[in-house]
Amino acid sequence: MSSSGPVYQVVVPSPLYRFFDYLAPAEGVVLRPGTRVRVPFGGRTITGVVVGRAERSELPPNRLKRIAAILDDVPLWPENLLALLAWVADYYHHPIGEVFATALPAWLRQSHRAEIRGAPNWRLTNTGRSADPEAFRRAPAQRQLWQTLVDAPDGLDAAVLSTRATRWRTALRALEKRGWVERHEQLPRYRAIAAPRPGPGLNPDQRASAEAVFNSRHEYRTFLLHGVTASGKTEVYLSIIERLLADDRQALVLVPEIGLTPQLVARFEERLGIRAAVLHSALPEAERAQTWLAAAAGLAPVVIGTRSAAFVPLPRLGIVIVDEEHDPSFKQQDGLRYSARDVALVRAAREKIPVVLGSATPALESLRHAREGKYRLLNLPGRTGNAALPDVVRLDMRRLASADGLSAPLREAIAARLVRGEQSLIFLNRRGFAPAWMCHACGWVAICPRCDARLTYHRGRNRLLCHHCSTDQPVMTRCPGCAGEALRPLGAGTERLETALARTFPKARLVRIDRDSTRRRGALEASLASIHSGEADILVGTQMLAKGHDFPNVTLVGIVNADQGLYAPDFRAEERLMQTILQVSGRAGRADKPGQVLIQTWHPEHPLFDALARHDYDAFADYLLNERQAQQYPPYSHLALLRAESPAQSAPLQFLKLARQLANSPEDVTLFDPLPSPMERRAGRYRAQLLVQATERKPLHRFLDAWVRALSEAREARRVRWSLDVDPIDLS
Ligand code: ADP
Ligand code: ZN
Ligand code: ZN
Repeated sequence: MSSSGPVYQVVVPSPLYRFFDYLAPAEGVVLRPGTRVRVPFGGRTITGVVVGRAERSELPPNRLKRIAAILDDVPLWPENLLALLAWVADYYHHPIGEVFATALPAWLRQSHRAEIRGAPNWRLTNTGRSADPEAFRRAPAQRQLWQTLVDAPDGLDAAVLSTRATRWRTALRALEKRGWVERHEQLPRYRAIAAPRPGPGLNPDQRASAEAVFNSRHEYRTFLLHGVTASGKTEVYLSIIERLLADDRQALVLVPEIGLTPQLVARFEERLGIRAAVLHSALPEAERAQTWLAAAAGLAPVVIGTRSAAFVPLPRLGIVIVDEEHDPSFKQQDGLRYSARDVALVRAAREKIPVVLGSATPALESLRHAREGKYRLLNLPGRTGNAALPDVVRLDMRRLASADGLSAPLREAIAARLVRGEQSLIFLNRRGFAPAWMCHACGWVAICPRCDARLTYHRGRNRLLCHHCSTDQPVMTRCPGCAGEALRPLGAGTERLETALARTFPKARLVRIDRDSTRRRGALEASLASIHSGEADILVGTQMLAKGHDFPNVTLVGIVNADQGLYAPDFRAEERLMQTILQVSGRAGRADKPGQVLIQTWHPEHPLFDALARHDYDAFADYLLNERQAQQYPPYSHLALLRAESPAQSAPLQFLKLARQLANSPEDVTLFDPLPSPMERRAGRYRAQLLVQATERKPLHRFLDAWVRALSEAREARRVRWSLDVDPIDLS
């Protein structure tokens, strides 16, 4: 019998909670952890990652296979990031292979080599340099190109050449043919692209915040930068990063959605004189992988990215910033349900660097940690420059008449802005024309055939759409209930609001921003540009308008239906609503003209609106924290949610009941009864869930670990699709 010798532990993309043993590709070859390899797996050859090495395998030697090929000469991940990925698999009780798949750009999950592709660049050869200018007497384009290259001994790329020489491509071919020009590849440049443009001098609060973070640059510490809207948080980030770059460190900036704030990237680039490495899921795969590799090679000083950028290797990482840290999009809602904010904290702790969580409306979890001294609180209580916080007025809709959903005071306020040439932003968090298509004779309502939900009427497309699945139906005109013809839209979405505003203000220039109006590539950028250049008078939209924009000429924000979500079943609904309204309100009066916020509500006495009127987020947070404590909800307990779904109605609940029986839960971990989900049927599947709650994290995770293993081996688990959500932010 041959001895198996050392084996490598390889993570492969599989839904199993383990890695697999392989022999070295050849006798004596040594591989380091973090190296990608090709391995035979289930009859195919796939890409995996070496994570460890062991002296022997549990497998009998004749079942051990060899690694087929090595893809990387140097490991793609350093040890500390491999450890972070292992932590993520542990904490979220998720198969390690899927954690790696989330962390790695799809292009690198294939067998591509991890090479940074340079951009082609041309320079003169020695003979070219000593060419006689007389040679170009009849070729002015060649002469111009030659002169341009004489002045650039390091060579130039296509982008620069096209700005400096005419008909340069033809000229270039001629010079190449004579052996006077040669082509080489140059690594993409991110540093020192242009001279940095200094920002405004920081005010004392900003300076104190930047100072506190910078002084902690050699240690792990979490800062909560709580600054009202337009208090200059971004300037604080820039000031810290500027100084860290001088030390040759890298910065990682996590943002909710890059597409919504193209402004932000430009601001970082101009201020720091760099090119930012931008990472988000809408990029073409090869480009995303190239950016990822440039960051991992230390070429890019600043990485700005959404969720999965939390996993990018950065050899000289000096700080992590999580902007709008309260934003729900930091939590992935399928597959590996991780929180990028929480991963960032764990990463910073492991790399012994500071992390800044910034928000005007911090998550209750973060506020509590700050109050208990676990995070250091940095406050920016006022707006910068001459800007004051907007005046917030509640409009009691029980007493006010309204036309098309707009009360008289709101209409008058918009009219006044039109006269003054200022902009108004009208917010309604519901897209489409109407949330229901209903028969006024018999009460029949169009329902999605695959979900427990109403269909939304979209007038622009003249279709009925489901916002929870892909159902898309023609609009029927005869009622299936009574055969009458009294079908009409009920309620209002942004499309209807836009129509109403156009009717009321026929001369105003309107821009609508929601998922429908921005579907086309470039449409959002065009709309934002028209707002900035003053070509729009009234902006109508959903929360896409709330996030991070700096519209200096907006002086009025109108919130059409503020009560949406006020009495929703989810325990986070009020926190979410407060954050959204406060963020939208924050778009008013950011420059030197005073802003006003008008809130249409049927519950003006609700503490949420009280706190809004006083700009007192903390007071409302106190109120919510008290409620959470009384009900033992997070942040006063820890939750995990086991979900199951199936096309068969009874299967999910049956599985969850079995899961509850299989659970060997200690006293300090509570399992609730399995229940159908609030929306039981979605996209043709029935859904149910089981909530697990614990005061302490440790016993919870010890329990979950054993439970998930038991479940993944249970036969009944194959009859449903199930998943575990640790720290769920949405219980629907
Ligand atoms: P936030 O990130 O808190 O929303 P920003 O950093 O975007 O705030 O600042 C809001 C506006 O105020 C921006 O136009 C910014 O250039 C400007 N600003 C920031 N800090 C100062 C300052 N100290 N003095 C003058 N203007 C400032
Ligand atoms: Zn009817
Ligand atoms: Zn549906």
